[in-house]
Amino acid sequence: MQSSTPLLHQTTEHALAYLSGLRDAPVGTTVTLEQLRERLGRPLPATPHDPAEVIRQLVKDVDGGLIGNAGGRFFAWVIGGSVPAALAADWLTSTWDQNAGMYAVAPAAAVVEEVCGRWLLELLGLPNTASFALVTGCQMAHVTCLAAARNAVLTKHGWDVEQRGLCGAPRIRVVTGDQRHGTIERALRILGLGRDCIIDLPVDQHGQLRAAPLEKVLAAEPNAPTIVLLQAGDLNTGSFDPYPELIPVARRYGAWVHVDGAFGLWAATSPEHQRFTLGVEQADSWATDGHKWLNVPYDCGYAIVANREAHYRSMAHHANYLSHSAVARDQVDWNPEYSRRARGFATYAAIASLGRDGIANLVSGCCHYAHAIVLAASNLPGVEIKHVPHLNQGLLRFRDPKPNATEQDHDRRTEEITARIVASGEAMFACTTWRGLRCMRVSVCGWQTDATAVARTVLAIAAALASPANR
Ligand SMILES: *Cc1c(COP(=O)(O)O)cnc(C)c1O
Repeated sequence: MQSSTPLLHQTTEHALAYLSGLRDAPVGTTVTLEQLRERLGRPLPATPHDPAEVIRQLVKDVDGGLIGNAGGRFFAWVIGGSVPAALAADWLTSTWDQNAGMYAVAPAAAVVEEVCGRWLLELLGLPNTASFALVTGCQMAHVTCLAAARNAVLTKHGWDVEQRGLCGAPRIRVVTGDQRHGTIERALRILGLGRDCIIDLPVDQHGQLRAAPLEKVLAAEPNAPTIVLLQAGDLNTGSFDPYPELIPVARRYGAWVHVDGAFGLWAATSPEHQRFTLGVEQADSWATDGHKWLNVPYDCGYAIVANREAHYRSMAHHANYLSHSAVARDQVDWNPEYSRRARGFATYAAIASLGRDGIANLVSGCCHYAHAIVLAASNLPGVEIKHVPHLNQGLLRFRDPKPNATEQDHDRRTEEITARIVASGEAMFACTTWRGLRCMRVSVCGWQTDATAVARTVLAIAAALASPANR
């Protein structure tokens, strides 16, 4: 086996070249699907190839097919980049190649996760007795939290779901707002609860669920096993449910309260924004992400559960060939995975390098820049603000200048201008349907977004609007 040193030096150069190019590179793709397939779709290699050559070729072949969300001009979805310490720790995570399933297999990784858990609870203002799991993303955080919820609400009804499964169990209902993220439904499908368990309640004009409709639904079946699902930062406008108003209602009916806080839960870290998460700590479980607002590389989500016993009952796994620790935390008892990446290192490094203040600045900075983009764009002709960011999410709509233009015309114009901005490579946005109207989402979630990136983005929007191809 040859030394891997030259290969890794060369790879470092590739990585650094990519990172330094981000400032000016097109944000969107510059190749077609066909081109990517043609470049990458070689026949299965029969014989070994020089690893350095494989990597050189890979770097060449993916060029133009990488989206620049690691940089500062990506606003299409809540994705975010990677802060340098987290990226560096992630490189080392692959190098160390630890199997972070158990303390005995990867002791340092297990302890790092213990510390990450403690730090996260403190940062997010959640009960310090809560249990947690570092999972692949918010999707799996939902699955983990809702598995604990399923266990707890059925235990109350004398049903051991881990032993008996769901066949014949009392039916669980899940009450939530209709602006919920798609990952909720998928988590419920995976858990065997199915779509039909969901009762969607309409949210008000601020995107919030209200106590009266919630209470009405709960009172209709006051004794049914129930999970109430609240939102901390909805995907279009970043709205937060009124926890002090809703959680006591859910409690009265013995419901488990789960919070989808993929990015919004991080508002708790910013003194300017923490009023939004007031009372959220009264919930039973919370799902959030590291790879969004904390700017940790993929895959990284966090499941947090106030009821440790329910969490443990739903996940714990013992086998006689495993070496459980009597004193350390074995991740396999809290995580849905078995063998797994030691993803705690990147989280640990991100939090250690930013500190509480750095995280607060990252969060408030993104909110500030989202606001700046939306306001500056609204001074351009035909640009309508649909949602002014109170957090890091804004919505813009581009109005068709022709006389008697209809909403459909504005929808089309919004799609067209967004596509034109994306094609310019100067910034990347995406469209969403909000209250029946097509809007361009402005999601700011990356540490690299700064005043320069904002100015350049606003110029790109102006250029797209001024382009002669527009009528
Ligand atoms: C992104 C997002 C999710 C899903 O998170 P993943 O990390 O992609 O699994 C869930 N809910 C909300 C509100 C989100 O923004």
